[in-house]
Order: sequence, then C-alpha cells, then structure tokens
Amino acid sequence: MTSTFALRDIFRDSVVVAIPTKTDFRGVSVREALIFRGSSGWSEFAPFVEYTATEAAHWLRAAIEGAYIPWPELKRTSISINATLPRIAPEAVKSFLLNYPGCTTIKMKVNDFESDADRLEAVIDEVPDAKIRLDINGGWTLTQARKYLHEYFLRFGSVFEYIEQPCENLEDLATLKSEVPMKIAVDEAIRKFIGSDFTSISDFADIAIMKWAPSGGITDARKIISDIGLPTVISSAVDTGIGITHGLALAASLDSLEYACGLGTTALLVEDIVKPSPRPINGVIELKRVEPNPELLAKYQASPERVAWWENRVIEVWENALSEEVKGWVN
Ligand SMILES: [Mg+2]
Repeated sequence: MTSTFALRDIFRDSVVVAIPTKTDFRGVSVREALIFRGSSGWSEFAPFVEYTATEAAHWLRAAIEGAYIPWPELKRTSISINATLPRIAPEAVKSFLLNYPGCTTIKMKVNDFESDADRLEAVIDEVPDAKIRLDINGGWTLTQARKYLHEYFLRFGSVFEYIEQPCENLEDLATLKSEVPMKIAVDEAIRKFIGSDFTSISDFADIAIMKWAPSGGITDARKIISDIGLPTVISSAVDTGIGITHGLALAASLDSLEYACGLGTTALLVEDIVKPSPRPINGVIELKRVEPNPELLAKYQASPERVAWWENRVIEVWENALSEEVKGWVN
C-alpha cells in the first residue's frame, strides 16, 4: 500500500519531456526525461531507454534523492565548466564554442586521428590556450590507441589534459598509461566497477569521471569518489537543466575539485526546460536550485504513448530493482 501511495506522489505533477538534440548523441536524437517534484524540489529520471531495470535503478535512486533529500553542505557555488564538442565539421566549431563563453577546457568525442584532427585544429585556432580532452568511449584497441595517440601527440604536443576511456579493457588501459605521455581518465570503467573494490584503479587511470544519475545520486557518488581516491570530474548524461543542477550540487559538495566539469551540456539540446538554462558565463556556472519553465515543459511534452512508457518504466524499476530505503524517502 505504502508503495502505491508513494508512486502516486512521484506522478503527482510529473511531466515527460522529449527534447530534440542538436547533433546525434550516442544514437539519440531526442532526449526524453521524466521531470517531477518532491519536498526538496524538482528532479529528473532519464536513464537511456535500452538500460535494464537494474541499471535504471541507480538513476531512479538519484532522481528520488534529488527530489526528497536536501543537498549536502556545499563547499563552493561556482563550478568551472568544460566545453563539450560533438563530432561536427571543423567549420562549425567556432559557432558551437559560442555556447561555452570563457571555457578553455574542451572535451571532444573522437573516433580516430584522420577524421578528427582537423576539428581539433579548428578548436585550437579558436582557443589557443585550450586544454583538450579526447573521449573515445572505450572504442579503441590497444594497437589503435598507441597509433592514434602517437599521431595526436606528434601534431598537437602537450595540449591534452587527458584521454578519456581510450580502451574498454582495463589491462589495455594500464599498459597505455605506462606508455603514453597523456593522463588517462576512466568513465565507462567506473560504472562497471560500481559495487566492487576500487583499490587497483590507479593502475589504469589518473582521473575518474563521475555522473550524478548513473552513480545513484549525490550520496552514492560521494562515497564512490572517496573510495576511488582519484581526482574527479563531474560530467552529465545530457541531462536537462534539472539534472544538470544536481550534478553541479555534487561537484559543489566535494572537498577538492581541481578539474573543470562537463556540465555545460544543455548546449547539446535544441532548448532546455529551465530558463535561463544553467550555462557557463566566464567559464563557470553559478549553482542555484532551479525549476522548470511551465511553457517549455508544455512545448516539449512527450506524446501520451511515451508518457505511459515512462510511467511504466518507473513502476517496473520501483517494483523490481529499487531498495526499500529509497522508497522510504518518498513522503
Ligand atoms: Mg565519457
């Protein structure tokens, strides 16, 4: 019974939005999210549609915590942000970077050297003192990683702040880390590790990428960050401004934050549902709790079929994969 009442609370003023993205992002051209409100404010549930209930349970935990549990103590209110550049033509780089005024750290998704080096050249033309992060999403074999990183280093020298998840395999990452002059960051590897022991992580990584929703929310993410013990970058999963703000709060709660965070990503959506959207000014976002704009919620409201799909998704995850502790937060 409690469960049914609590679920009704989640849906009381929930809205499912479907927002087109500016460029294809991991095969997604419309980002869907269920936005809802609890006693502490607005929150967002937006696991990618192909995720299992077990994976999505981390996202629901984060979403419910965000709505019902107040943020922890914040150590700062101003968060340095990196620009996130999709795989666009070099000619389009200049105008895309206008989304990130003052950001001098630029993260780029790359497939290889041949087809991506000219885009990097265009970035450096625009931002001569840029610190560059390449994100490969685990897409290279060790042989490819050696070849491409050698080519990047020969052409661009020491512009690289780090290389994010060049290979999927942890042994390959460890080998690469001992061979290349660039630092190695891990993203996908951490999600695989959740629930296990992180003591060997410094063998294959210098930096950890953490995301608010996939790690289960602020409390769980802070615990993982403390267990990992590496410098951490807080990043997004192309959240709306609601989810981004919880990511900013996570970043703001950390004792030490030495790298810019990947939380300027509402620029990848055609429009945000928060107005003004949390976007960098002078390279930083000032953190504050936000609410969705009712007109924008209406503008991007998903079809009745998609609303029903998302409500079923919440029920499925709630009933099959969510801990009793989290259900008790809904009041
Ligand atoms: Mg990544």
